[in-house]
Amino acid sequence: MKVSDKDKLNLIKRYYKEYFRDAVKNRWLEVPEDIRHREIGYGYLKKVDNRNLSFNSEDEYLRWVLDRAPLHLYKSLAYMKYPSSVGGAQKKGIFRRELAFDIDVHGGKRCTHKDDGWLCNHCLEEGKNQVFTLIDEFLIPDFGLSKEDLRIVFSGNRGYHIYIKPRDGDIRDTIEHWSREERRCLIEYILGKNLNLNYVGSGWKRRILSAIKNKKLLAQLKRSNNWKSIIERKNEREKKRILNIIESVKNRLELDEKVMEDDIRLLRVIGSLHGYTGFIVKEVNYNSLEYFDPLRDAVYPKFNREYYNIKIKEKIDPLRIGDNLFTYKSREVPVSVILYLFGHSVNFEILE
Ligand SMILES: [Zn+2]
Repeated sequence: MKVSDKDKLNLIKRYYKEYFRDAVKNRWLEVPEDIRHREIGYGYLKKVDNRNLSFNSEDEYLRWVLDRAPLHLYKSLAYMKYPSSVGGAQKKGIFRRELAFDIDVHGGKRCTHKDDGWLCNHCLEEGKNQVFTLIDEFLIPDFGLSKEDLRIVFSGNRGYHIYIKPRDGDIRDTIEHWSREERRCLIEYILGKNLNLNYVGSGWKRRILSAIKNKKLLAQLKRSNNWKSIIERKNEREKKRILNIIESVKNRLELDEKVMEDDIRLLRVIGSLHGYTGFIVKEVNYNSLEYFDPLRDAVYPKFNREYYNIKIKEKIDPLRIGDNLFTYKSREVPVSVILYLFGHSVNFEILE
């Protein structure tokens, strides 16, 4: 006998519920700071079915999470006077906003999966490399931040959220009161959008120079900030080569600009589960990021203990969880795989 689709969703919900029970009890589920002024959003079959929720206390919020156990759970980056008001930033009375970057990798060059939405070591590794690029090549050297001023969170899928949380209260106050335009400037700087070759500032100079191998050119560019005049004296082939290098240095990061810019943007609650994968939205320490393996470390261990007999009814890309590789031929799979298949809308039957 097979489990019906409705029962399948109920089964999934049961595991989400079990997870949230543990996450709340052991306090690893994020309670957004100043919860009364934060908007909460959630989803089951869609990423966001509903938003504009707010809670009067930590207790009320946690009870709601335990009761509903959503597949997707979000908080607003902004602090609002009226978080449950519908209709844009004006109506919500935004008075402060957290700063966060969203690295969202779209299929690495070395990926072999046919499904763009699938996960493998390569795209996960690419996401991690971009975190290091953002932190080590921008946030620390150009903005004077240190590792302790940042929170790195695996998004539960193919990306990372990097929160800027300066320990210095004054600096934090300043940046969390930035306007949309000021946040826009920050993200444009990091994406190299306002890079001006007539005057290349020290940060971009350093980054681009480290990608140039030609010693003579390197010496020329090092001496001047006006690169345009140097490049214009080169022949066409050389000119193109240099501009290509600059372009590739600019394009190393896949950042969702809206997450930095939008006033009413929601971001996943740390410690919740990502409904597409069933993986934990998990904070990772900078020093252990190198060894962080999402397919092992972001999977809730309890989800690997219980197995189900299933039949996968379409050809899917292989999926590694921990040390185990699952394919469309797999018959016995743990709960973690069930959650992933369900989240990816794979056609499969659970056999009883
Ligand atoms: Zn991949």
